[in-house]
Amino acid sequence: MAQKKQPRTPPRPSPTPRGVSREVLQKSKARGEQTPDAYLRARVREVPDFPRPGILFKDIVPLLTDPKAFHMVLDGLAHPFIGEHIDAVAGIEARGFIFGGALAARLNASFVPLRKPGKLPGETDRVSYSLEYGTNELEVQEDSFESGAKVIIVDDLLATGGTAAAAAELVRRQGGYVAAYAFVVELDALKGRRKLSPTPIVSLLRY
Ligand code: AMP
Repeated sequence: MAQKKQPRTPPRPSPTPRGVSREVLQKSKARGEQTPDAYLRARVREVPDFPRPGILFKDIVPLLTDPKAFHMVLDGLAHPFIGEHIDAVAGIEARGFIFGGALAARLNASFVPLRKPGKLPGETDRVSYSLEYGTNELEVQEDSFESGAKVIIVDDLLATGGTAAAAAELVRRQGGYVAAYAFVVELDALKGRRKLSPTPIVSLLRY
């Protein structure tokens, strides 16, 4: 009996294994579309007086609901680290998990959650840091990092830098080496950058 010919896998279009290719961006430019920076900025929603009066909250959810924007954000966060050997991405609860988890997968690195107290089982280490009103705490599971592991700390936004500095203290105490910080948004006026110096900082959208 004549063997049925197996259907062949359709050829793949030019590879865009990760995110939006240069080709796509060039075509979009030719069509007069927004630059990548403008495209992303248009998807950061500003909400006055949230969660408290006087705070101009940067809502990054529209960057997630638009798949192209989410890819572009991840491309931007991952780009500086391609070819670097990053062992772990430490994400700060909760929005740092969204970007940090996806970034870790792209960099073939581990993802380590830095959580609010009482959420992680087993032995944990904890750091306290002060906020404008009161204090906050972050926890990590013991033995999350190999000694000397190269770690990137990720959060959605850098404001005063208190949260990221506390995250770094925790990572260092656990034996990790903080190679860089990565944020989607940075609020320049709050000078968080100074608190994190001299460790390199990647931030995509500075306001
Ligand atoms: P900070 O410790 O002052 O750098 O604050 C950073 C943390 O607070 C991040 O986890 C942010 O998600 C959150 N945050 C601070 N200010 C804002 C803001 N204006 N809009 C959105 N999130 C903010």
